Amino acid sequence: KPLVFSGVQPTGNLHLGNYLGAIKRFVEMQAHHDCIYCVVDQHAITVWQNPADLKKQIREVTAAFLAAGIDPKAHVVFNQSQVPEHAELAWVFNCVARMGWLNRMTQFKEKAGKDRENASVGLFAYPTLMAADILVYRATMVPVGEDQKQHLELARDIAQKFNNDFRDSVAAAGFDPDEGFFPLPEPLTQGPAPRVMSLRDGTKKMSKSDPSDYSRINLTDDQDTIAQKVRKARTDSEPLPSEVAGLSGRADADNLVTIYAALAGTTREAVLAEFGGAQFSAFKPALADLAVAVLAPINRHMRELMDDPAHIDAVLADGSERAGAIAAKVMDDVKDIVGFLRSR
Ligand code: ATP
Ligand code: MG
Repeated sequence: KPLVFSGVQPTGNLHLGNYLGAIKRFVEMQAHHDCIYCVVDQHAITVWQNPADLKKQIREVTAAFLAAGIDPKAHVVFNQSQVPEHAELAWVFNCVARMGWLNRMTQFKEKAGKDRENASVGLFAYPTLMAADILVYRATMVPVGEDQKQHLELARDIAQKFNNDFRDSVAAAGFDPDEGFFPLPEPLTQGPAPRVMSLRDGTKKMSKSDPSDYSRINLTDDQDTIAQKVRKARTDSEPLPSEVAGLSGRADADNLVTIYAALAGTTREAVLAEFGGAQFSAFKPALADLAVAVLAPINRHMRELMDDPAHIDAVLADGSERAGAIAAKVMDDVKDIVGFLRSR
């Protein structure tokens, strides 16, 4: 049965893009699949995190998962650092992946910026850890936002190269060498808003690490803050078009219409059928009301959960134990295949 795996970094400022592009879809996948959802704290430290803040942020992402409707009993919710097999497999993958492959990753280029000599080695190797996160469960279905597509392709390349490099050993360990030991994971990026853009610049993705808080709607923003951010969102001065074709070349307008459609569970066509010809002064209040209506219940539930950190920690400990049981078995096979001796 195909497993679903995905993760969110506890880097603070969880936002509407994380919700529409990832967490909302995590919730939907639960109905028909076995799902493993991870708070990827080891990814977070690829850029500096204040230790006390990191602990709070790990609990906050967990609270967001639960508040959005992820069921930690029927599925698995845990944090990465509690299952050491992720880092263990990542090392093997560091030795399978090629420098040239990682050199092509656009996320590294964006996050390292101009001062590449000063970026952490972890930031460069980020995609090999991400491949390990998925493949240590031999998961194949990975719901992510569009920005993660390139990393998923790399995970497929790593799985394929591992299967080829160790072909004879895979067979000796009792696996079909034509199928390979690792399956090839698929990015699931379809959905209403696979790429939510910044409210300040419709050509840049909404991001936790954008220094401007006005660039994003945070899941922890109150009603007034949401209304103010939507009001201040950058737009052009034309009214909304009546057809989707009229949005081309209007990135800011397109973004707001896309967000509205995703929040309402409808299409951009349907939104423009209703708001075509309207000025932003009329559209923005409607968008703010809708965002508040969708986010307020999640926000309220997150606050309640954050008041009881011991409960959150217990959820993560239980999830880590169940995730670790799966990961340990896969890692035992990996050790055999690679040629490591092991005691158990
Ligand atoms: P950071 O800036 O720290 O990388 P982030 O906002 O990119 O933070 P991540 O934790 O890296 O968040 O990503 C979590 C999930 O949210 C991933 O599946 C990612 O593809 C998705 N995601 C992130 N930003 C957006 C966005 N703007 N639109 C849609 N999905 C997004
Ligand atoms: Mg990111």
